Amino acid sequence: MSPALNPALDDLHREIRACRLCDLWRGRTNAVPGHGRHDADIMLVGEGPGFHEDRQGLPFVGAAGRFLDELLERAGVKRADVFITNVIKCRPPNNRDPKPEEIAVCNEYLLAQVALIKPRAIFTLGRFALSTLIDDKLTSISKVHGKAYRKSGIIYVPLYHPAAALHNERLRDTIVEDMTQAAAALREEIAEPEMPPEPPAQPKQLGLLDI
Ligand code: URA
Repeated sequence: MSPALNPALDDLHREIRACRLCDLWRGRTNAVPGHGRHDADIMLVGEGPGFHEDRQGLPFVGAAGRFLDELLERAGVKRADVFITNVIKCRPPNNRDPKPEEIAVCNEYLLAQVALIKPRAIFTLGRFALSTLIDDKLTSISKVHGKAYRKSGIIYVPLYHPAAALHNERLRDTIVEDMTQAAAALREEIAEPEMPPEPPAQPKQLGLLDI
């Protein structure tokens, strides 16, 4: 699965697949812990598995996933280089919104994934990942999308959810631009030149907002 072995992450994902901490296990075909590089620089966090994700046990494999693939490609990011997961790991009945208590129990898993993967940046997809991971007071994605927040050494960039943007031309353009800019700024931020440039180059700033 991953070029970098991380047995603790494998153990965590086994635990998630067997989890019965909330009632969502009753309706699932598969829990969906997440997929990608175990030492990814970028983590992407969506809302929760849908029909296809539940069937396959993998995140973002349906229509929203195909659009996410397109977004990543346009931003010059390989899907194999990131780690993709969701706020909740089991599909809610009829794809309803996750309940606060479901998010609360699953958050332990999400925080453990972040602690083990140690990403430099987390791109949140949609309002549930925004309020769960960045700040529960930041509820209006239309106001904060594309901005960068630094919290505990990690850069967080809230993005629209690909499913919301898929059928809305204006949001489509916005999410393409947000993802492309965030990926480019992050590449500059983490680039390590082999030789110190002469004179020293000013790194392009992400315009970080500390919270
Ligand atoms: N939507 C999500 O939020 N996550 C998935 O994995 C698929 C669709």
